[in-house]
Amino acid sequence: MTSHHTFPHGRLFVAGQWRPARSLTTFETVDPATEEKVASVARGGPQDVHDAVAAARASFDGPIRQISPADRSRLLTQLARMLESCADDFAHLETKDSGKPLSLSRDEIAGSVRYLDYYAGVADKIHGQTVPLGPDYLDYTVREPVGVTGHITPWNAPLSLLCRSLAPALAAGNSAVVKPAEQAPLTALALATIFQKSDWPTGTYNVVTGIGDEAGAALAAHPGIDALSFTGSVSTGQAVLQAAAKHITPVVCELGGKSPQIVFDDADLDLAASEVVKGIFSNAGQYCDAGSRLLVHRSVYGPLLDRLVERIQQLRVGPGADNPDMGPLISESQRDRVLAYIETGRDEGARVRTPLKVDFPRGYFVAPTILDNVAPQMRVAREEIFGPVLAVLQFNTEAEAAELADATDYGLAAGIYTRSIDRALGFARDLRSGYIMINEYFAGGVESPFGGYRQSGYGRERGVPGLDNYTQLKTVVVRIRAGGPPRTR
Ligand code: ADP
Repeated sequence: MTSHHTFPHGRLFVAGQWRPARSLTTFETVDPATEEKVASVARGGPQDVHDAVAAARASFDGPIRQISPADRSRLLTQLARMLESCADDFAHLETKDSGKPLSLSRDEIAGSVRYLDYYAGVADKIHGQTVPLGPDYLDYTVREPVGVTGHITPWNAPLSLLCRSLAPALAAGNSAVVKPAEQAPLTALALATIFQKSDWPTGTYNVVTGIGDEAGAALAAHPGIDALSFTGSVSTGQAVLQAAAKHITPVVCELGGKSPQIVFDDADLDLAASEVVKGIFSNAGQYCDAGSRLLVHRSVYGPLLDRLVERIQQLRVGPGADNPDMGPLISESQRDRVLAYIETGRDEGARVRTPLKVDFPRGYFVAPTILDNVAPQMRVAREEIFGPVLAVLQFNTEAEAAELADATDYGLAAGIYTRSIDRALGFARDLRSGYIMINEYFAGGVESPFGGYRQSGYGRERGVPGLDNYTQLKTVVVRIRAGGPPRTR
């Protein structure tokens, strides 16, 4: 990080000020490639959350209301340009904090800029409607900001997932309190330096770093939060929903997945192999929409597996700063969890294949792993591993493929590889999944609404529907002409 975007360590960002947590305590973040300390970070608690919500409220009730939609658009564009101008600093910081390859950090920072630009374009197009009630009435709707939005964000794509919910919240006219993940909070703090130099009012953007069940729980339970965005695991999502229920705070939640990649016998196998590898080993499998289950037609099983093994052998694994294809996992506990799942797979009867050995003296590395011979009832076929582990299952018929694809509690994403348009669109129609990609994994972008079915969550982030979480609809009904009989409900 060059000097113009440094921020004081061990501080929260509240009401435009860098200040220690009320408890005066801190914790440390660690570089996953070296296990060395990166920064000390303030350990915020309920009182700090309270202060941040008060600052955001003052900003919402005061200056933010005075900003026209067109000016909100300009201010978001200003943020986008400022972030773009120091994208490389942010990419290096993201890699140090999260372990991901530098090229991926660069892509994610570019994606963060794109969120700001996209919602800058939407800020002055948040229209209401008129509702036909006949000549004696005018019924119109207005989409108002909710007020103060809370953002509890994960560590796997820290800045980009923050901007995914922050940009629409600000576009709609809200102010925000952010609780970044304790494993990788630094780019959320660095973003505060940009807000400080921008023309956004003080208190628009507040960051309370801290531990999930302290600062995060306090934010979810705070009565002054008008809408929450949560991305993370199912169990934490349940805790957030329960806390939010106390004040009927609406939550958009994007939770886990066990997304299938389905390869039919008519697929382009070279293309499928390259997409399958990208779908599971990008970010070391630590994306909620990672394509972690491969369902493959029996007749192409051997040729596809050969291609996967060949591609895995060519992957470069190493510290993110060296710009490999795959870096370490985020933390020691995630590494241990993933290794335990691989052992579970072995115990359940899967064949463990690691075509590429990795051996580093330090860092939370796990070799890209294929679990072959997986049966549908095994835990490794149903549970989210969140690491570079691909569970491979075979099918014979389309009906079997469809049944396997839906045979988990999740429903986030699915990839389909086929040359048949009927198959592709038939599966897209039938799968119980919120996001379907045909012949390219991770297809789509900021414009494409994203979110889960079933236990993968509800609500949609990205695209124009992504605004819905941060607006509320007001209906105004006007009686125009007195005299006639009122319309009955
Ligand atoms: P992981 O288990 O991979 O760390 P989580 O779903 O627990 O992922 O974390 C996602 C975000 O939720 C993080 O910012 C984390 O600090 C936060 N968090 C964790 N526990 C709670 C909780 N009880 N209430 C609110 N937020 C929490």
